[in-house]
Amino acid sequence: MRSSQAARSSLAPGAVADRRPARQAVLQAPGCLEIRDFIPPRPAPGELLVEVKCALSCGTDLKTYRRGHPLFPTPTPLGHEFAGVVAEVGEGLKRFAVGDAVMAVPSAPCGKCFFCECGQENLCAQVAQRIVAGAYADYLLLPAHVTERHTFKKPPNISFETAALLEPLSCVFHAQDLANVQSSEAALILGAGPFGLLHLIALKARGVRKVAVAGRRSNRLKCARELGADWVVDIDREELAAAASRLNGGWGPDLVIEATGLVAAWEQAMGCVRRGGRVLFFGGCQPGTVVSLDTRRMHYDNLTLIAPFHFRPRDVLAALRALSEQALPGLERIIDARRHLEQLPEVFALLEEGAVLKCAIYP
Ligand SMILES: [Zn+2]
Ligand SMILES: [Zn+2]
Repeated sequence: MRSSQAARSSLAPGAVADRRPARQAVLQAPGCLEIRDFIPPRPAPGELLVEVKCALSCGTDLKTYRRGHPLFPTPTPLGHEFAGVVAEVGEGLKRFAVGDAVMAVPSAPCGKCFFCECGQENLCAQVAQRIVAGAYADYLLLPAHVTERHTFKKPPNISFETAALLEPLSCVFHAQDLANVQSSEAALILGAGPFGLLHLIALKARGVRKVAVAGRRSNRLKCARELGADWVVDIDREELAAAASRLNGGWGPDLVIEATGLVAAWEQAMGCVRRGGRVLFFGGCQPGTVVSLDTRRMHYDNLTLIAPFHFRPRDVLAALRALSEQALPGLERIIDARRHLEQLPEVFALLEEGAVLKCAIYP
C-alpha cells in the first residue's frame, strides 16, 4: 500500500498554483533516484507542513534504494529521519505555530486496534501502512496521525541533526526495554554500524557494567572504543565465540545484541550468549531467509530470544527525554558525513561501501 505521503506530495491535484516549487528526492525504481520539483501541498486539518532542516540516511533507505521495499513501492519519496521548522499549520492544530522547530518519528499507531490495546503499538497495522517518507526534500507534509502523537517541539539545546536521531533511537530504546537490560550485566553487540553504535551508547548511558562490540572495520571498532566500549572484537582476527566466552569469567555475555541484519550473525548471536542469557535480534534480515536453531542449546541452556520490531509511543517518549536531557554522550559521532540534497546518489554510494555511518542531508 502506498503511504499517504507518497500520494500527497507529488505534483498533484490540490497542489497550490501560487506556491514556489521545491525539491524532493523520488526513487523511481530501485537504483534510480531523481531530484524533482514539487509544489509543497497545503496542510489539511491536523496536518503540518515542515521545512526540512536536516534529514539522515538510514539502512532502510539504502535497502529501498537497492532492491525496493514492500512498505515503499516505487515511485516513492525517500527519507524518514528528519527535523525541521513548521512552515504551515493545518486547521485545528493548536500545539504548533509557524516557525516552531520540530522533530518527529514518521509513524504513529491508531491507539484503538487489538495490538494497541495490548500495549504492542509497534505492531499496529497503521504503523506500517501509513509511514511517512519524503524527508529528502525541502518540505515534508506530516499527516494528522503523526502530528497528534509523534511530533514534538525540538528543545533548543539540541541540533537539528541530533533531533533527527529520534526515530532510530526509539527503535533502540524499544529493543533494550524488551530485553530488560540490567546495569549489572555484560553485553555483546554484533555489528559496529550505526545501530550497533547507538546500542552501545544507550547501554553505556544505562550504566551497563561491561559492553563489548564485535565488528569488522577497524575505524568503526576504534569509534566503538571511543564511545565507551569496554572491549572490541575484530571478527576477522578473532573467533567470535571464543572471544565472547571471555565475558563473565568464561560463561559468556548475559545479553547479545545482533545489529547487522545478517542470517549468519543471528546464528552467531545464539551461539555465543551465555547459558540462561538473552539474544536480541535487532537487525531485520532479507525477506524469505531462515535461521537454524540449535534446539539442545535453546532448551538445555535456557535461552531467551527476543526480536523487536519498530517502537511504541512510550519508547519515542523515552528517546525524546534522553535527547532533551543530553543523556547520551557521543551521540553526535554517529553522524559522520554531511551532504546536500543534490548529492544524494553519492550518499547512497558511500553507504553501500560502508564508508559512512550516517549522513546528514541538507536541503
Ligand atoms: Zn530509520
Ligand atoms: Zn492500532
